[in-house]
Amino acid sequence: MPASDHVDLNGFIEGVKRRNPGQSEFVQAVTEVAEDIFDFIGDKVQYHEAQILRRIAEPDRVVSFRVCWQDDNGNIRVQRGWRVQNNNSIGPYKGGIRFHPSVTESVLKFLAFEQTFKNALTGLPMGGGKGGANFNPKGKSVNEIMRFCQSFMTELYRHIGADIDVPAGDIGVGGREIGFMFGQYKRITNNFTGVLTGKGLEWGGSLIRTEATGYGAVYFLQNMLKSRGQDVAGKVAVISGSGNVATHAAEKIVALGGKVVTLSDSEGFVHDPDGITQDKIDWVKTHKTHRRGRISDYATEFKSATFHGGGARPWGVPCDVALPCATQNELNGEEARTLLKNGCTAVAEGANMPTDLDGVHVFKAARILYAPGKASNAGGVAVSGLEMSQNSARMSWKEEELQTMLKDIMSGIHDRCLEYGRSADGHVDYVKGANIAGFKKVADAMLAFGVV
Ligand code: GLU
Repeated sequence: MPASDHVDLNGFIEGVKRRNPGQSEFVQAVTEVAEDIFDFIGDKVQYHEAQILRRIAEPDRVVSFRVCWQDDNGNIRVQRGWRVQNNNSIGPYKGGIRFHPSVTESVLKFLAFEQTFKNALTGLPMGGGKGGANFNPKGKSVNEIMRFCQSFMTELYRHIGADIDVPAGDIGVGGREIGFMFGQYKRITNNFTGVLTGKGLEWGGSLIRTEATGYGAVYFLQNMLKSRGQDVAGKVAVISGSGNVATHAAEKIVALGGKVVTLSDSEGFVHDPDGITQDKIDWVKTHKTHRRGRISDYATEFKSATFHGGGARPWGVPCDVALPCATQNELNGEEARTLLKNGCTAVAEGANMPTDLDGVHVFKAARILYAPGKASNAGGVAVSGLEMSQNSARMSWKEEELQTMLKDIMSGIHDRCLEYGRSADGHVDYVKGANIAGFKKVADAMLAFGVV
């Protein structure tokens, strides 16, 4: 075997840290994957010789660019935008765009790396990418957001394409922003192609794309529970976040007979012991999306609820199942232990890497049903993949067809996790299963291409 960083796990991680100084989120995501992959490739010399993991953990390219825009007072503002194209071995780069002040190159590199595994797990032909800007949409007027999206696309358009790289939404980027970006893409290129997903239904979007991430996470949870002879009905669920993923996860839990008792945002969480019913979820959707309100207002609107401020997180509320649906590193080791102590037996991540590395180790050691985001939140990008197919075929599928496809894709991901994550005693390590299944598909494609 040639001398390489693949000789041992610690040496590999040290190399990743050295090559990516100050990029803690990226190092964290690579470490979590490498812990499982080193075990798997221990006796598979072809992956070592071809330096596969080392290559997947080095993005194909990172494009960084200036985004200038003018605010409503006439001031010139300057933001930094990026597109990270991590790997296109199994299909065009695919992944969302995030607008949030916390966006850095490290955050987008971790997300593009995760997306590579997630997209492979869906079984659809999509590579991994991610983009965004350190732009804070909060408090901005619609005109300011439009000008920012147009300026962002004025650079991004030269790096993307229906067969090259297909961005979508993520935190801070929903249907409205996709509309502004698609409009600008079309204006510059004069091309009407499926270059973005999450589009409006009138201009090439797909039914159920909005619901898909949250619903998919609950379908995955259902699959996990079923493997232990259980069901969502009657389960008490703690959910973090109150955006698109959280509200649709809550909606599906309620539809299946479960009880949702929390939602949150960056200021804190609401605890509603009576249950957050469909009516209340509808109120949250309108309040957060159309009124751009805070979750604290829920406790004013619904007297059964209490608000816990100061950025408090909901993991101390007793529950059977937990769905972290807000953002990365929102659940640490101590909070993971609290969840276990209070009786939580299943965790399905709706966000990307919401559990930090300590927390992942706690859940793995406790041998609970624990699904990492790359498996359980893949429903969103999966329906994006179906949107790409519909655009290429220039047709639209019916809602029932898409619902069935989403359920099948989530079951397929669950099966792939079982294939590589089940140990001799029957226990399933979903993190390991997802990492290995995602890796193997991408790695085998890379082996076929030789040294490129
Ligand atoms: N941003 C979502 C994710 O994290 C969806 C990406 C997409 O639809 O391309 O998977």
